[in-house]
Amino acid sequence: MLNLVIFGPPGCGKGTQSARIAERYGLVHLSSGDMLRNEIEKDTTLGKQVKKYVEKGLLVPDHIILKKIYKSAIKYINSAGIIFDGFPRTLVQAVMLDRFLHKKDILLDMVILMLVDRSELYQRLMGRAEDSGRKDDNEKVFHVRMKVYEKETHCLKNYYKKQSKILQVNGMEPVGDVSDKIANAINYYCKNNRIYSKVI
Ligand code: AMP
Repeated sequence: MLNLVIFGPPGCGKGTQSARIAERYGLVHLSSGDMLRNEIEKDTTLGKQVKKYVEKGLLVPDHIILKKIYKSAIKYINSAGIIFDGFPRTLVQAVMLDRFLHKKDILLDMVILMLVDRSELYQRLMGRAEDSGRKDDNEKVFHVRMKVYEKETHCLKNYYKKQSKILQVNGMEPVGDVSDKIANAINYYCKNNRIYSKVI
């Protein structure tokens, strides 16, 4: 199996890159944001529970997201691998994911951190707001999401650095170039069992 996590600030392109990596390597793409939006759209019990958090740009409580992720991931433990997109987003989630994978005897291979300047993130999200239909793609919620990212999620960089699993990617380049660089880094890892330490 090849198991990856991708994270970064809102608008960093993690959804786009995850889909491309998943296709290239035959991985299952598990996007926590898509799962939640799907529940909200279907107006399920879970959807009703999480709607207020998602629309305000706040994090859904750990126990809710963990339950949902475990339930989905368990279906794919015999697949070619999983790319976790947007999960984990807190230290608690990261620790719990490690425990979950450890229990199933599964290795988390690499954690991709997408780096994009704040001004570029803002421009991308404002552009996306026009056709995404996402209630959290607006100026006010963008600032909340950035704050939440800085307070709760960015610390995962150190958590995974300590495990020598972090791959830092400059996400400001054209989409195809970013995908190619990530693919090169994955191929290098598969061959050498090492992750590039420099920002690529
Ligand atoms: P995303 O599509 O990854 O930008 O996620 C959209 C929204 O879904 C976030 O702003 C949160 O409200 C919620 N969400 C997604 N993933 C998580 C997670 N791992 N933990 C808590 N909330 C999440």
